[in-house]
Amino acid sequence: MLRLDLGDLPVASSETARHINRRIVLNLIRDKQPISRADLARFSGLQRSTVSLITEELIHDRWVVEGTTGRLPRGRRPTLLLLNQRRRIICIDIRPLRTAIGISDVNGVFSFQELIPTAADPHRAIRNMLQRLRPLLKTRSDGPFEGIGISLPGRIDLTTQELVFAPNLKWPITDLKTVIERETGLEVALENAANACALAELWSGRLGAIRDFVAITVSEGIGTGIVSDGRLVRGSSGMAGEFGHFPLDPSGPLCGCGNRGCWEILASETAALRYYSESTARVNKSRHSNLEFQGLLALAEKGDVLAGKALDKMAVQLARGLRMIVAALAPEALLLIGEFTAAWSRFEPRLKTEVRQQTLGSVPVSLIPARDGAIVRLRGSVALVLQKHFGLSFAAPASK
Ligand SMILES: [Zn+2]
Repeated sequence: MLRLDLGDLPVASSETARHINRRIVLNLIRDKQPISRADLARFSGLQRSTVSLITEELIHDRWVVEGTTGRLPRGRRPTLLLLNQRRRIICIDIRPLRTAIGISDVNGVFSFQELIPTAADPHRAIRNMLQRLRPLLKTRSDGPFEGIGISLPGRIDLTTQELVFAPNLKWPITDLKTVIERETGLEVALENAANACALAELWSGRLGAIRDFVAITVSEGIGTGIVSDGRLVRGSSGMAGEFGHFPLDPSGPLCGCGNRGCWEILASETAALRYYSESTARVNKSRHSNLEFQGLLALAEKGDVLAGKALDKMAVQLARGLRMIVAALAPEALLLIGEFTAAWSRFEPRLKTEVRQQTLGSVPVSLIPARDGAIVRLRGSVALVLQKHFGLSFAAPASK
């Protein structure tokens, strides 16, 4: 229940103990709010006096507020504590065509969401984002902003915090963190979108006791965030989970990474649109040059046979990659994120059949569609900011 990362707290100083106790109390308030100080002591096993000191500090730091009074059969009514909903986070999810910007409170409840076009040039894209953020930052009087979380379709260098590998965005090495921190005065946390989604699942606790799972984001490309024993796996270079660029067909189409036949060039939204465009060209059917993936889903839904076949082809390729992940990591669950989950009844049987064939032991892998794809990605950005305070089971970047 306590998603606590002890990995970065190696020395048992009194400061360390204070830090751990603060995280425990903060997480208990989050899980059980509104809650009394007496119940916090009971659930945590900490002394009442320690709980009082920590809660006073949390109230002073504006993480926690006093709410209504609780009921007791007799005696003084306790004041209940809850997270300060006025503390807010700016979350950004950058995708090749569009960037989602949102404002969330510390409970992950959104008060604002907007889409803006993503410029092809990174400097221009950052300028556009800042232009949109400035008026939002002026609403600070509604409550303080804790920081900015940014999910990206690429990989972040663990040391420099620069975006270093983004084949679908096609940006060169880009330092978003320094520029946006300088212009907004807020701390920026960056992460690969699939890792951020995995983190958001740990944060939300929706997967319950599942501690080994892989979050798979299927959009313009395919990203995977690996969680093993409740911790995000980054690998030595921060590049762990690049299954999207594993060549399933070395003679296949050229991928944005420079290789041929990568999983994502065969199984992403872009792949399905390409399958559709190729098949309509063959039968001289009118071309939908500006067709987007949601349009393809709608065509299939309306009974367009070629649109349905394009999605089926995507499903077959998606399933092949999932088998590879199951073979490599034997997770308990695969969490599937993306607009394709809106057509889950079409995808599920194809994915299940293929994945079951890879389940060599007795425990089947659960396929869980995260149907609210866009929000899942934004929630990932929220988790990036909050994990610093709440201590999720998450390996923090080396530079932090
Ligand atoms: Zn590739």
